[in-house]
Amino acid sequence: MNRKNRPSGPKSVDRDRLCEFLSRSLDLAAINDHSCNGLQVQGAARVRRVGLAVDACMETFRLAAARSCGMLVVHHGIIWGGLKNITGRVYTQVRYLIEHDLNLFAAHLPLDLHPTLGNNAQLARLLGLKALKPFGVYKGVTIGCEGRAPSGATRGALVERLRRRLDAACTVLPFGAEAVRRVAVVSGGGAGELAEAVDKGIDCYVTGEPSHENYHVAREAGINVVYAGHYHTEKAGVQEIGRLIATTFGIETEFLDVPTAI
Ligand SMILES: [Zn+2]
Repeated sequence: MNRKNRPSGPKSVDRDRLCEFLSRSLDLAAINDHSCNGLQVQGAARVRRVGLAVDACMETFRLAAARSCGMLVVHHGIIWGGLKNITGRVYTQVRYLIEHDLNLFAAHLPLDLHPTLGNNAQLARLLGLKALKPFGVYKGVTIGCEGRAPSGATRGALVERLRRRLDAACTVLPFGAEAVRRVAVVSGGGAGELAEAVDKGIDCYVTGEPSHENYHVAREAGINVVYAGHYHTEKAGVQEIGRLIATTFGIETEFLDVPTAI
């Protein structure tokens, strides 16, 4: 995949217009989330280039500044449940963003659950799932999906596809049948939704972050579980946002890849 989108067209876009577009496209106001979604730190009024990243951290901030991005759009922002102090790590981050005139925009659950742009919709597409239904209730919000695997699908083929397409070293709990019919996906930290997968008779549950607690639950239930990495299962959403911004506004966007190995 080409990580850089280089369209021709207008050279910059108004920051507020861009924020409004993203908020509308991702339906931010409709989704209850402990992440404060939207513009978290204000920077330049006009944006020539947008960086996309999974995590708000100093490394992505430095990369964004080095690449002359006027805005950074992330899945995991820096403001969760209301900011109480601007001290320590938060102070360092906010100071850096302000000094570099860098807008920070975050979209957490809205980017997990969006029916086309979302991390889970794209995981389902990557795995070729059909007849999708909502799956995975996280803090009262359904963020994942389940569907029918392509005929003849196997656990091994599914894992191989995730490894190759996401560049992810998968952790596999191979306690179900090799033949896989129903697959459920929850991007990121979805270990808590394994019980739902067991209850619903899912053959293979795919999530991001491994959980020790899941091991014997999966073994005793006879279900396959694949952990493809918190980071790797949450790349596709911001990458898709980059493509959408590039085609809508004709500005450059770039995915800033800072994998966490988790
Ligand atoms: Zn996450």
